[in-house]
Amino acid sequence: MTSFIFNELNFDDHEQVVFVSEPKSGLKGIIAVHNTNLGPAMGGCRMWNYASEALAVNDVLRLSRGMTYKNAVAGLPIGGGKSVIIGNPKTDKTPALFEALGEALERLGGRYITAEDVGTSPQDMAHVATQTGYVAGLGSSGDPSPYTALGCFVGAQAAVKHHFKRDSMDGLTVALQGLGHVGFDYARRLHAAGAKLVVADIDAVALERARAELGAEVVGVDAIYDVDADIYAPCALGATLNPNTLSRLRAKIVAGGANNQLATDDIGDLLRQKGVLYAPDFVLNAGGIIKVCYEYLKKPETDVEAHVREISDTLAEIFPRADKEGRSTAVVADELARSRFQR
Ligand code: NAD
Repeated sequence: MTSFIFNELNFDDHEQVVFVSEPKSGLKGIIAVHNTNLGPAMGGCRMWNYASEALAVNDVLRLSRGMTYKNAVAGLPIGGGKSVIIGNPKTDKTPALFEALGEALERLGGRYITAEDVGTSPQDMAHVATQTGYVAGLGSSGDPSPYTALGCFVGAQAAVKHHFKRDSMDGLTVALQGLGHVGFDYARRLHAAGAKLVVADIDAVALERARAELGAEVVGVDAIYDVDADIYAPCALGATLNPNTLSRLRAKIVAGGANNQLATDDIGDLLRQKGVLYAPDFVLNAGGIIKVCYEYLKKPETDVEAHVREISDTLAEIFPRADKEGRSTAVVADELARSRFQR
């Protein structure tokens, strides 16, 4: 029997995958609930002009699985899920589209809770919220990115302590790629801790701000991989750790907020062989989902920071285990997540 779904590269025993079509609004979406052992699945709704439906299926399967791992390793009482809407976020958005998504979430009865993601905004989520309560991150208490940046910073501190055997960032050079919501805040913290910043972005305004406010040195978008830095901090795109960049990388630590930094799984091992300590992206960048989860569960915002700071304890568990077992930190982090969510 030929298989289109169950042998799909990213199919990983997902509990439930729902295809949603609503002709009046034009909604074509997919909701993937990967695992709910720890609680209802939570993860954002991505809107993207996918070139094919197969690519959309692939994406939602991969992303929902990733959320299970991220949420579990962050110690949150939620499972992993994700949804995608097939369409152009610049031209195809209407309130009705997101209301139809809200109706679909309501039919799932709380097994999946959505939030904003690439291509969607808090305003879109407000339209979802007219039909269902199973939506988080409505922006009522602000942008979660500063918490993501805090997680990156405490994670980088843990990496520095483990790899360089020192408590201070003072005098270290950080090559930081992407000065957006996460990257700029992370850069500000690094600067305040005494690190020297070398930065790249495609946005000239962000670069000028980093130069003026943080004394950052600016390099071209491709030159960031060649910087003689102690830490490489990817905070823009995914898959920036690939065979091409690996041979150029001079940093001894990778600690950044971008999702899916390893182009392929074997890169984790290649980094280890090269003597580079990789702080796994989904461990490091969980600050945002921690904040959104607290908001949804109506837990006190005053407790969010302490929870985000636990990211450094998690890494302090992962790094020595990876050393001892001679395995990549990414594999050890996956295993830690599985030990928490698998029954
Ligand atoms: P953002 O869009 O605010 O910032 C991205 C920045 O990267 C922008 O300044 C952009 O100009 C820059 N950029 C784009 N292409 C670039 C290139 N080729 N080279 C250098 N810079 C480039 O996004 P964000 O919210 O800061 O998120 C950054 C990364 O972190 C993404 O991978 C995102 O998925 C991930 N992430 C974000 C959060 C969060 O709380 N925002 C949480 C978890 C993970």
